[in-house]
Amino acid sequence: MPEVLESAAAVAAWRDAGGGTAQRVALVPTMGYLHEGHLQLVRLAKDLAPRVLVSIFVNPTQFGANEDLDRYPRDVQGDLRKLTAAGADAVYVPSAADIYPDGFDTFVVPERLAGVLCGKSRPGHFRGVCTVVCVLFRVTGCAAAVFGEKDFQQLQIIRRMNRDLRLGVEIVGAPIVREADGLAMSSRNALLSETERRDARVLFQALQQVQRRAREGERRASALREAAHAILRGPASVRVDYVELFRADDLQPIAGDIPENTRCAVAAFVGQTRLIDNAPVT
Ligand code: AMP
Repeated sequence: MPEVLESAAAVAAWRDAGGGTAQRVALVPTMGYLHEGHLQLVRLAKDLAPRVLVSIFVNPTQFGANEDLDRYPRDVQGDLRKLTAAGADAVYVPSAADIYPDGFDTFVVPERLAGVLCGKSRPGHFRGVCTVVCVLFRVTGCAAAVFGEKDFQQLQIIRRMNRDLRLGVEIVGAPIVREADGLAMSSRNALLSETERRDARVLFQALQQVQRRAREGERRASALREAAHAILRGPASVRVDYVELFRADDLQPIAGDIPENTRCAVAAFVGQTRLIDNAPVT
């Protein structure tokens, strides 16, 4: 069973007991309700440092007023069982007051990279993400941190923040883990009804269609976007937020023909639940 740490002070004590800063720690930040995608990050982290710390914190500052903060699934006991099996050394489960003490007033605001894709649909989301990740880096003193490509924009924004603010953390990205039918694993999948769960398959099917059309020679971003929309229009429970083709390095949307290193991202509401997915196109 990993050691459960409920405060920044407890994390500091755990660090000191394990040899202080001389002993590298790899951090895996999560919002809990863990699945195989998270556990893959933990296993990757074990190759990066002798001690692995997983954080579980449903970060209120990254949720908009009308989003699903209250609905977000939680099961810390189940998470601890899974993390025992995956071999995490400690779990940081802070309270909101531990991350944001009284009078907290300083935020990290990404600019250009947060002006596209999910940042456009969810204003302030990446401000919340960068702020909490920055606090987690400082509290844990981690040498490395692992993030999934499932949240591709988040991964790129954190890489940039780490570089811009000289945080000195080794940032490692991990591939998307999927269910047997292709749906990207997500804690939010638990919120879907049986019908919605079936309908949700169209997100990955749309990405596969874009990949297929690109392989067959289609180069126009507009035509590839439309190919994805045609698939997403199928089920009644699905409402598209965006389909975008973008350059993987700077996340900028592509208007004309797709260059090398293009990715496609989709975001869609399935019923009340907003899901995202992405894949390389070239
Ligand atoms: P979350 O708990 O959803 O905030 O995710 C915590 C971390 O796990 C983030 O770095 C995510 O990108 C990553 N993650 C979530 N789902 C997956 C998945 N299906 N495959 C790979 N990584 C994932």
